[in-house]
Amino acid sequence: MGDRTLRRAPEFVAAGLVAPERAAELAAVARRFAVAITPDMAGLIERGDESDPIAQQFVPDAREMETRPEEDQDPIGDRRLSPLKGIVHRYPDRVLLKPSHVCPVYCRFCFRREQVGPEGESLTAAELDAALDYIRARPEIWEVIVTGGDPLLLSPRRLAGIVKALDVIPHLGVIRFHTRVPIVQAERVGPALVKALRAEKAVYVAIHANHPRELTEKARAACLRLARAGISLLGQSVLLKGVNDDAAVLEALFRGLAAMRVKPYYLHHPDLARGTARFRPTLDQGQALMRRLRGRVSGLCQPTYVLDLPGGHGKVPVGPCYATPQDRSGTWSITDPTGQAHQYPPRSVDIKD
Ligand code: SF4
Repeated sequence: MGDRTLRRAPEFVAAGLVAPERAAELAAVARRFAVAITPDMAGLIERGDESDPIAQQFVPDAREMETRPEEDQDPIGDRRLSPLKGIVHRYPDRVLLKPSHVCPVYCRFCFRREQVGPEGESLTAAELDAALDYIRARPEIWEVIVTGGDPLLLSPRRLAGIVKALDVIPHLGVIRFHTRVPIVQAERVGPALVKALRAEKAVYVAIHANHPRELTEKARAACLRLARAGISLLGQSVLLKGVNDDAAVLEALFRGLAAMRVKPYYLHHPDLARGTARFRPTLDQGQALMRRLRGRVSGLCQPTYVLDLPGGHGKVPVGPCYATPQDRSGTWSITDPTGQAHQYPPRSVDIKD
């Protein structure tokens, strides 16, 4: 396996990731959506297995050219909620800051697939200043989520500049980064990048991983470097048909993340991005998977299953519900992890010593 990120159809074919007869299909998809896979991710793919869960995430597919009526180029309404370039302000107490639109890999299911890519514009110095001014001027903003694109592709110097500017804004409590870099290009997480992320304020890094095979020794070591610098690590995963829609796979993923000091935070239901229907399970299927995890996996390994409502209406937990009100007296029926229902509060005769 080479040491370069693959970005073009012939490179995918030459690396054995795509059969030569699919080269034209791949090239057509690449003209519409950004394409890239790092050597580390390409190296994980089982050649000749079209259903390989890593290949599914990064190798383009002709089905991406099909758009369903419910799909949209801006599925969660980022554009509508952007008061100025580089800022998305959906909730009163937090904003997204998007300094760049470039990623180390381009995920075939990405909800921002029509905004990210090598052609995507990064903020100029003046635009970044304006975005920071927007945050400075609003004391209700408590958390800044630096995302993109992937902010950990910025040079450590630019990253440090952003962290320093945010660190001195008095009303901010938390600076959070969203990234795939520690998983897909772990060697970038070197001393300069780790130093750039250090701040007086709480810094969280939310790491995107979807399959336990992504949790390589290199990724583990990168997370350890971040954790040793006092950075809190969260896990973000997307529930993807054909990749991780299996209780054993999710269990291995969440246990693996927690053991790497990465607390599984969100399991996202896939958004209605154009050309991504093949990845979407139903909400019923997602809930059934979450039910199977409850009871067999430590709470430390249980993310919240969430859906970002189309149109920018926000993120909502859509996991299974275990409590149903029985009557107006405050009695509930609670389902335990084995599926058995219990009355709460229990009748006195049900209470055992
Ligand atoms: S790394 Fe994140 S932003 Fe970039 S393509 Fe993948 S999901 Fe989208």
